[in-house]
Formats: sequence, structure tokens, C-alpha cells
Amino acid sequence: MSFEVHAQGAVHVFDCFSCAIHRMAPICEHCRVQVIGQGVEVEGHWYCGGHCARAEGRAGIVDKV
Ligand SMILES: [Zn+2]
Repeated sequence: MSFEVHAQGAVHVFDCFSCAIHRMAPICEHCRVQVIGQGVEVEGHWYCGGHCARAEGRAGIVDKV
């Protein structure tokens, strides 16, 4: 039941989703949670959402709901 994740030109093979998340999900630079949803990228920095981006001083970030 393995599956492949293609990202940024590389192919990663996993046998469970939790392994893929642990290996590949970015970590929010404010609250340190692993970003498994859309997340927010601002100038190369990752956050779990607009609230954490704003808490780090990133202006103009709005969550799309
Ligand atoms: Zn966060």
C-alpha cells in the first residue's frame, strides 16, 4: 500500500500518511506545529495560518476561508 509524493522535482515513497507528514510537512515558524493544511508562505517562511504570520510581524496576510 505504498504511495509516492512528487514535490519540487523529487519523488518520495511512503507506506503511511503519518510518515509522509512527518517527513515533508513544513513547521510553523511561530507555534512550531506541523503544517498539514494549506499553510501560509511569506518570503520563504512557513506558518500554519495568517494569525501566526501576523504574530511574527508579517503584514497583510489574510486567511482565505
Ligand atoms: Zn502557527
